[in-house]
Amino acid sequence: MRRALVVGNWKMHGTRNSVDALLAALLKDTVSSTGADIAVCPTYLHIDSAVSLCSDSAITVGAQDCSQFASGAYTGEVAAPMLADSGCRWVILGHSERRQYHGEAEAQIAAKLASVIDAGMQPILCVGETREQREAAEAEAVVAAQIQGALSGQSSLDNLVIAYEPVWAIGTGLTASPQEAQAMHAFIREQLKTVAGLDAQATRILYGGSVKAANAAQLFAESDIDGALVGGAALVAADFAAIVAAAAS
Ligand code: PEP
Repeated sequence: MRRALVVGNWKMHGTRNSVDALLAALLKDTVSSTGADIAVCPTYLHIDSAVSLCSDSAITVGAQDCSQFASGAYTGEVAAPMLADSGCRWVILGHSERRQYHGEAEAQIAAKLASVIDAGMQPILCVGETREQREAAEAEAVVAAQIQGALSGQSSLDNLVIAYEPVWAIGTGLTASPQEAQAMHAFIREQLKTVAGLDAQATRILYGGSVKAANAAQLFAESDIDGALVGGAALVAADFAAIVAAAAS
């Protein structure tokens, strides 16, 4: 039985005050939601404060990316061991915005993933196709290549989480239908079986792409959808809490 997980990706939003206020509201709203794991991923700058505010609560903290290197002369980068040292449990990797705006491809994502595992944290690997790729019936081939590229040869994938995020659904208000999302999640679970050392039935596969309080329950009713990676709706405490409640029920 896979435990539901809801992750808020706060992207490049927030000030110290707004992050504190959002967390205070979330800690109040999610206090009884023990049926799902909950995580928030603020900017690097706000991680310390989030970890301290969430200590002794059900909310855990993650980062939105990390360097592929453990230390060294890499100006502007933040290493996975630093994130672990700051109390992060999760790191989002391969988000489509990293792929699109920073040219990240599979080899770099694979190196980051290894670094996150070595640092004792849980990677949340994002995969997903663009609208053009879906229309060209290439969605499964694209996702399979992303999974193979990032995961083959990794030493230990026990703590891996996958997030299926169709690029055309991120921040657009368009959502894959529960049936479309379920079909891709089932396909991803099949792909995971071919990756050595991974228990595909135990691996959580989240859906991401315009998840809202209004559509969360229908998505979570599908057998291979184990929770959500949430962008916009994670910035509004009541909306995020409602998504968590849907996952927990
Ligand atoms: C995301 O960026 O990971 C995401 C799913 O965003 P949104 O929920 O805003 O579509």
